[in-house]
Amino acid sequence: MRWSELLYLVAVLAVGTVFGARSLSEAARALARGFGEDRFVAGAAGVPRDLDVERIRRLIRDGDLSDREALFWKEQAGRPSASAGEGTEAVESGRGGVFAARREIEVMGTKGVVTVVMSKRSRGGEARVLQAAEGALRRTEGLMSGYLADSEVSRLNAAGTVAVPLSEETLRVLAAARAIHGTTDGAFDVTCMPVIDLWRRAGKEGRLPSPEAIDEARRESSWADVELLPEGVFKRRASARVDLGGIAKGYALDRAIEEIRIAGCEGGIVEVGGDVSCFGRPAGGGKWRVAVRHPFEPAKAFAEIAIGSGAVCTSGDYERFFEIDGKRYSHIIDPRTGRPAVGAASVTVVAPAAFAADAWATALTVLGPSRLDILPPDRGVEALVVTGSAGKPEVRMTPGFRALLVRGPDF
Ligand code: AMP
Ligand code: MG
Repeated sequence: MRWSELLYLVAVLAVGTVFGARSLSEAARALARGFGEDRFVAGAAGVPRDLDVERIRRLIRDGDLSDREALFWKEQAGRPSASAGEGTEAVESGRGGVFAARREIEVMGTKGVVTVVMSKRSRGGEARVLQAAEGALRRTEGLMSGYLADSEVSRLNAAGTVAVPLSEETLRVLAAARAIHGTTDGAFDVTCMPVIDLWRRAGKEGRLPSPEAIDEARRESSWADVELLPEGVFKRRASARVDLGGIAKGYALDRAIEEIRIAGCEGGIVEVGGDVSCFGRPAGGGKWRVAVRHPFEPAKAFAEIAIGSGAVCTSGDYERFFEIDGKRYSHIIDPRTGRPAVGAASVTVVAPAAFAADAWATALTVLGPSRLDILPPDRGVEALVVTGSAGKPEVRMTPGFRALLVRGPDF
């Protein structure tokens, strides 16, 4: 059977659900602006206090938001990318013969900002670069979103026991995810999608899943059921499903930064839903400043770091969560128990590549601060973990993370 014929065998996955990431992060972004123009806020998808949190919760509870979210993503993916000059673009003059141009976008169900720093001699070329970076984000979403029924990941999930052809990019991310599964002692596991799905539905229905349902969902999918081939994936079981939600955003940031580098810019920073990747220098000189959001008071930043290049990604239970009987549960699942992670309130990871920062932040939310020791040594991967409660927050970090701090941590 040829690949093209196999494609026809792939059914379409029903559009999934989500817990209001867009509205929550939208709200948080408004607050983020209050932090100052050229300050970037890690973990920007918080739930600020003075926001109409009740309304958002209602939307989540009624399941409305999920459908609208799904529609939103569908539209985004189907839409041809904005042509040069479209979108919000702002240009400001910087020091030393450079200028910065930025574009605000909506992608992956959240908001983002692409900023490029270019030599004044390249004035006029900024729209094309912004466009390329935005295109990289949209392309990644189109391939790897679990919410778009026609993404590669959705087709893979809907497929039976067959070989599913995949793009090199999706395969690359799957291979990275499998490697990180190994190095995180199984805490990062993109194949635990049935369990993630089970808890999403539980959150929507406001009812805890039964232990039997959890066990069943855990049995449905594992890395043993998904074989990576040179040009695709062989599914050993039809029930095997993957969710790249913990790594694809980071990968998208890597691709966007790559576009800006290739274009020969002096610097650039891309932020999507609170995750950031950057290189080079800001228009004002010096290093890029990234603020780390307070997990218990998301309207505040409790620390700030300065980096020249690299990524800063945050996972946290304040970011996206659901409630059952007034108790808050993380949207990150502990694959070892099949239950929501309880390892940390928030984790911020700095790494040279955003896909790694993204995945490690998710993994450490499962593992907690006691496992900071499993971070790969000498690879520039550093982490800060917040645990405890609003009344008694506790913070632990690697020495390398501490070295990046320019403010805080203040609790
Ligand atoms: P993040 O916000 O980057 O921490 O990613 C969280 C998302 O990753 C969730 O919404 C799920 O889509 C997915 N996910 C949840 N638990 C895990 C896990 N243990 N390993 C990998 N991905 C996960
Ligand atoms: Mg992540």
